[in-house]
Amino acid sequence: MKQLKWLSFIVLISLLTACSNTNEGEAGEDKLQIVATYSIIADMTENIVGDKAEVYSMVPIGTDPHMYDPLPADTGKVSSADLIFYNGLNLETGKGWFQDLLKVTNKNEVAFAVSDEVTPMYLTEKGKETQVDPHAWLDIQNSIKYVDVITKRVIEQDPDNKEYYLNNQTAYVEELNKLDQYAKEEVNKIPQEQRILVTSEGAFKYFSKAYGFESAFIWEINTDSQGTPEQMKRIISIIEENQVPALFLETSVNPKTMETISNETGVPIHSKIFTDSLAKKGEDGDTYIKMIQWNIDKVIEGLSPDK
Ligand SMILES: [Zn+2]
Repeated sequence: MKQLKWLSFIVLISLLTACSNTNEGEAGEDKLQIVATYSIIADMTENIVGDKAEVYSMVPIGTDPHMYDPLPADTGKVSSADLIFYNGLNLETGKGWFQDLLKVTNKNEVAFAVSDEVTPMYLTEKGKETQVDPHAWLDIQNSIKYVDVITKRVIEQDPDNKEYYLNNQTAYVEELNKLDQYAKEEVNKIPQEQRILVTSEGAFKYFSKAYGFESAFIWEINTDSQGTPEQMKRIISIIEENQVPALFLETSVNPKTMETISNETGVPIHSKIFTDSLAKKGEDGDTYIKMIQWNIDKVIEGLSPDK
């Protein structure tokens, strides 16, 4: 009996050793460990690093990255990360959850804002004009700048694979430029006066400027109170004055407020739309390119006079 116990003990120890060997082996040890604060930046990063790095996306799909409570697993990933990519521009940094996380993990030195090369736009509401609007990635040309920062930082950490990363960047940027061109052509299907994009959050400033729309919203940024009586009154009068034919609902906000607006005005919610999160893997909009393609197609379809 005693012998049997010893035997199981030895088997257990060898199993444990075998397990830890696989963990530390080629399977992941050499790969760069990268954390992205949310799905859109994670996807851009994956397009550059391919199979040369592990990318962990922090804020869950369909959830708002403006406000987030990191889980113990997130803290663990950040603590052991070689690189951390975040948007900045008042997104994860608006209410400070991300700065707190960096402070706790002491990882400031490897955290980089991918928006560094972007010219920021500001909020427009009275009293908020000095606050930056975070949603720069909805202009594809800005995303090309994001990808530039990501590629540079990855190469700094892993110069041996420089050629590989640069080739991936070239191929990805080519696709992004094609999509940008597509958006700029598609918008011509909509008469100028009908190019009004109504969403819950005012996330479409950069998009609207790039592709020639006006954007209107219930609340300007997710960190605001959402759906106050004044906000509701204001958007209803904009919809009525401009005879807006369709409303759009972001996948990462509470749908209730836009549904109320739709009921009160009789204007249908034409489609869901992606702003601060990709779709779940396997669904429409599960990459940055697919989410933007979806947005363009649905906006054009919803606002089209001959729909
Ligand atoms: Zn947002």
